[in-house]
Amino acid sequence: MAGYREHISVSGLCGTAYGTAAVILFGFTPEQGILSGILCWMSGMLPDVDSETGKPVQKIFGILAAVVPMMMMERFREVGTTQEQIILLAICTYTAIRYGFSYILGKLSVHRGMKHSIPALFIAAQTVMLVYRSDELAVKGLMGIAVAIGFLSHLLLDELYSVEFTGTRLKLNKAAGSALKFVGKNFYPNIFTYTVLMFVTYLTLVQFGVIEGPEKMPHSFRQAVESLPMRK
Ligand SMILES: [Zn+2]
Repeated sequence: MAGYREHISVSGLCGTAYGTAAVILFGFTPEQGILSGILCWMSGMLPDVDSETGKPVQKIFGILAAVVPMMMMERFREVGTTQEQIILLAICTYTAIRYGFSYILGKLSVHRGMKHSIPALFIAAQTVMLVYRSDELAVKGLMGIAVAIGFLSHLLLDELYSVEFTGTRLKLNKAAGSALKFVGKNFYPNIFTYTVLMFVTYLTLVQFGVIEGPEKMPHSFRQAVESLPMRK
């Protein structure tokens, strides 16, 4: 079980490399590169959000709660009409992430539960792609993959730490294989995780234009309703 410091260092290194590569090799702007690096760095702590590591994790959640509303400001402007509504939306998002989200995560998962799993990695990455506001799909992809890499670095590190070196030979401890998994031991967290995964995957595929969204449905539905012979 790798500690907070190991996780944050490894994902920090990954983030630095990733952000640099994004700018130099793929022509993203330096700002986009830095932001994706930070996302990767922070995602390295994501699977341990409710764990007993305590304070540092709480701090990460504090930062996350502040950053997400900033990233969603454009969205809020679309939804809210008055300045007050936009501010209230931002406050609600902050509170939901800072307290609500970590509470729910803590209730839902036992340690090394489904948060340490491949489906959780995809949920986190796709959620960021969905909420990140950009006209360019490549930029959304950049941010999502950053989260996936940070998350993966955490899972790999936890796996690595499950190998114990006992002087003369290597042996696997109890936690071996529990981080890089697709399903957990408990039924309900599995069902919950996969339901969420299917939902965000669907939304992502729609957003990236892979499959057709339901936008046309309400429209044709309205047309059908309007074409009905109704009494005026
Ligand atoms: Zn962990």
